[in-house]
Amino acid sequence: MSSPEPEGEQVTAAVEIELPGEEVSPMDEELSRQEEKARRADELRAQEVFIKRSTGKHKCTNCNYEYDEAKGDVDTIGGMIQPGTPFAELPSNWRCPTCRAQKGAFEEIVTEIPGFEVNQGYGLGGNGLTGEQKNLLIFGGLGLFFLLFLSGYAMS
Ligand code: FE
Repeated sequence: MSSPEPEGEQVTAAVEIELPGEEVSPMDEELSRQEEKARRADELRAQEVFIKRSTGKHKCTNCNYEYDEAKGDVDTIGGMIQPGTPFAELPSNWRCPTCRAQKGAFEEIVTEIPGFEVNQGYGLGGNGLTGEQKNLLIFGGLGLFFLLFLSGYAMS
């Protein structure tokens, strides 16, 4: 006689517990949702890597001389390496032009490209640029526009 409605609720609750396979309780649902979220976050974290890209330069760890593949080694005395020669293709008896250190004393100079690896191919190639390249693009573009703007005065 006290209250029939709570009894009814209790009955349905009991049914839910009896059949866990068919109806997932809100607790389980929330738990699995959180697990899914955590899994997704881990996935994204794994994708956010800083890609290292070779600059085509190698630095002598002994004297800080930089070998630039684009320039080769013709500027220094006795330099016979033509521009465009990759560091790996330098003769094994090649020495650092300034301190005579061997090839093994050189280490590759790499730059980092921040961001998600999966996005590198998008954005008109802009996502694959290094910070320096992006700066050049942005401020170079601004400078060009400024010159264009000033040249308007030259016409009058
Ligand atoms: Fe050196």
